[in-house]
Amino acid sequence: MSKKVRIGNVTIGGGEAIAVQSMTNTPTKDAQATLEQIGRLAACGCDIVRASVPDSQSAVAFKEICAKSPIPVVADIHFDYKLAIAAIENGAAKIRINPGNLGGESKLKPVADCLKSHHIPVRVGVNGGSLDKKYLGMPLPEAMCESALEYCSMLERHGVQDIVISVKSSDVKAMVECNRLLNKRCDYPLHLGVTEAGLYTQGLVKSAIGIGALLLDGIGDTIRVSLTDDPVKEVDAAAEILKAIGKYSKPYVEIISCPTCARTEINVKELAEKVREYTMGVNKYLQIAVMGCIVNGIGESAHCDIGVAGGKDRSALFKDGKILAMVPNENLMKALLEEIDKL
Ligand code: SF4
Repeated sequence: MSKKVRIGNVTIGGGEAIAVQSMTNTPTKDAQATLEQIGRLAACGCDIVRASVPDSQSAVAFKEICAKSPIPVVADIHFDYKLAIAAIENGAAKIRINPGNLGGESKLKPVADCLKSHHIPVRVGVNGGSLDKKYLGMPLPEAMCESALEYCSMLERHGVQDIVISVKSSDVKAMVECNRLLNKRCDYPLHLGVTEAGLYTQGLVKSAIGIGALLLDGIGDTIRVSLTDDPVKEVDAAAEILKAIGKYSKPYVEIISCPTCARTEINVKELAEKVREYTMGVNKYLQIAVMGCIVNGIGESAHCDIGVAGGKDRSALFKDGKILAMVPNENLMKALLEEIDKL
C-alpha cells in the first residue's frame, strides 16, 4: 500500500479514491483564462489541476489562480529553481519538478527547504524522452525507475518525505513495466499517465490500456489522460477509465446502449445521447438502458434501473426487467425522461 500524501484538500495514496488530474493549456500569465478553464475542469470532475509556470509573469498570476481555484493547483516547473520557490510561496498545492534539471543539489536544497516550510508535497516527474545520459544503456522501464528513485533519494537527503512519483512514456508497455517496478521498490504514491498519447481516439486507447492495466493490478493513486485536445476531454476520458474498472468514486449515471443492428426499431444513438445529456448532473448511481429491439433488449439489460427497448410502432418502457408500458415511438423520449425524473 502506498503512503498517503495530501495535495490541498485532496488526499491520494493509501487506498484513497483515485484522483483525476488534468493540465491547463491557457497561458498561465492570463489568470482569468486559466481560472475559467480550471472552472470547467472542476465542473466535470477534475480533482487536481496542473499549470505550467514557465516565467516570472506566470508565477505572479499563479498566486491569483491558486487563491481562486476551486481545486488544488500544482505548479509545473522546469529548470528554474527560483520559479519553484515562487510557485510554492504563491500557493501551489504541490509542485512537479524533474530534480535533475534544476541545476544540481545546491539549487535543489532551497526548493526542498521551501517545500518543508510550506508543508506541501512534490511530484518527481521522469519522462522517458528526457532521461539522464547515464541511464541510456539500460532498458527503458529500468532506466526510468532508477532515475525516479535517484531523484527521490536526492529529495530525501534534504528531508523531503511527501513525494509522489510519475514516470511517463509514450511507450505504453514501458510505462506499465516501469510502474510495476516502482510499486515493488517504493511506497510513494504513483501518478499514472501515458505521455504524448496523441489525438483523442489514439490517446484514449493508449491511456486506457496503460493506466487501466496498472489500476486493475492495484497500482496507481492518481491519473492523467494526456490528449491533444480540450483538457475537459482528458477529465471525461479519465472518468470513463475509472468507471469501466469500478474505481470511480463519485455517483454517476451509466448508460447501457446497444450497438444497433438490422433488428433496430428506434434511434438508439439519439435517445442515448439525450439521456446522457439529461442526466449529466444526477448525483446518484443509476443504470439506464437504451436498446434497439424488444427481442433481445429487455433481457440483455434487465439489471438496469430503467430502460427502453424498441418496437415497430410502440416501444417497451421497462423498470427492473419488467415492462411498465408500451409507448408510441414518437412519445418514447418524453416518457423515458419522465420516468428518469421519478428515480
Ligand atoms: S438489442 Fe436488438 S437492436 Fe440492439 S444490437 Fe441487440 S439485437 Fe440488435
